[in-house]
Amino acid sequence: MTELTRLSAVQTAAAIAGGEVSAVEVTRAHLDRIAAVDDKLHAFLHVDTEGAMTAARSVDEARAAGDPLGPLAGVPLALKDVFTQQNVPTTCGSKILEGWRPPYDATVVRRLRAASVVILGKTNMDEFAMGSSTENSAFGPTRNPWDLERVPGGSSGGSSASVASYLAPLAIGTDTGGSIRQPAAVTGIVGVKPTYGGVSRYGLIAFSSSLDQAGPLARTVLDAALLHEAIAGHDPLDSTSIDTPVPPVVAAARQADVRGMRVGVVKEFGGEGYQPGVEARFLDAVNRLAELGAEIVEVSCPSFGYALPAYYLIAPSECSSNLARFDGMRYGLRVGDDGTASVAEVMARTRAAGFGAEVKRRIMLGTYALSSGYYDAYYGQAQKVRTLISRDFDAAFGTVDVLVSPTTPTSAFKIGERADDPMAMYLADLCTIPSNLAGNAALSVPCGLADEDGLPVGLQVMAPTLADDRVYRVGAAIEADYRDRHGHLLIEEAPAL
Ligand code: GLN
Repeated sequence: MTELTRLSAVQTAAAIAGGEVSAVEVTRAHLDRIAAVDDKLHAFLHVDTEGAMTAARSVDEARAAGDPLGPLAGVPLALKDVFTQQNVPTTCGSKILEGWRPPYDATVVRRLRAASVVILGKTNMDEFAMGSSTENSAFGPTRNPWDLERVPGGSSGGSSASVASYLAPLAIGTDTGGSIRQPAAVTGIVGVKPTYGGVSRYGLIAFSSSLDQAGPLARTVLDAALLHEAIAGHDPLDSTSIDTPVPPVVAAARQADVRGMRVGVVKEFGGEGYQPGVEARFLDAVNRLAELGAEIVEVSCPSFGYALPAYYLIAPSECSSNLARFDGMRYGLRVGDDGTASVAEVMARTRAAGFGAEVKRRIMLGTYALSSGYYDAYYGQAQKVRTLISRDFDAAFGTVDVLVSPTTPTSAFKIGERADDPMAMYLADLCTIPSNLAGNAALSVPCGLADEDGLPVGLQVMAPTLADDRVYRVGAAIEADYRDRHGHLLIEEAPAL
């Protein structure tokens, strides 16, 4: 049998269910690989050896007892450190939460446990999910397995690097402005932002509550779909959770057929600022979709050009409110509590020492945008733009089934290259942000390597709210086509670590 860490989630679950290998052996193989290579990558902030082995043993016991096993039973997973997991260190990539062990499980964690998925540990991320490179982690950056001098994207960069380097077949990320799709694109794997409200936010440490959404990262579209179904569905603990059936994403991933679909190419995404190799692979993918039987039409979404500035008012505004809870009184770090300092002084000292520069920038921006006298000019205006973007999507989906674009304007950039230039960093999410503002489903699937640098390029597929199945259908067709022509997945071209 192939090396256990090279198997997909589907293959892993089948091997365990068929008794070819035990869940303990699978988990041990992944933990060994993490121990062997993660000092090069720094994908994990915490490896939960004991918790993972306990979960694996219970899968083996269930199998021995003849209990039915779910489709992901025994499959290892890397969890972004933005989710609470009972008694497991949870930092959100921030010093301000260092040492905190949450007293409860996020709903996503509860559902993973119910599906008998084995959680290997917590992955690195930009502090409070603010960033596109994982360089904003208070614990140091994660590296891209394709080129260790480059970023793995962000904010879910530890999750993308884990999956791309075979530390885990599956990972969970969160996507507020692109943080699942962009890291997936620049590491050559699949990432999906479900429809807003499709996956519970209970226990997801909030950055921007009206935008935050959890979703899967995987090496295949079908693996992502299985993980999507395992974590999705209504949760009374999240008031924005949608109470309708989960879209049939696994069936759609198996269908992998775009014949008769109408695919809209967003006219506004491309040209200046886009890397030629990224545009070339995107155009190839559009041509492949046409050859596979889709009808391609150009679509204009005129308000998408305002999505980035609107996002950088709405997201910081919500974060300035959400992050008020980190005050040195309730969680983790407390600084300057010397017996003479006032509560206000301790709060100020803790926040000054505990938050990094980008988080402080966002809190200040957001506080300003919400302040009296400026509220209408900034926050109110941004909300109007948000409505216009939703209307662009509605108009487009009146004539096409899905929209496509490059996931990111460029391939993975070098560590340090954009670290001192917030605007350059923000541009990484140019194409992904509209779907966060409108709340609809979107996926990134690998579509080739850029000629200039040999690095992966992602195709973004966007579908209407609650039509998540469509992004899987198109993503799976592109993946199958790549496999038919090359004999393997794109990720298998990554250099060995
Ligand atoms: N890169 C974007 C930001 O910095 C998006 C982050 C995210 O999706 N969590 O806000």
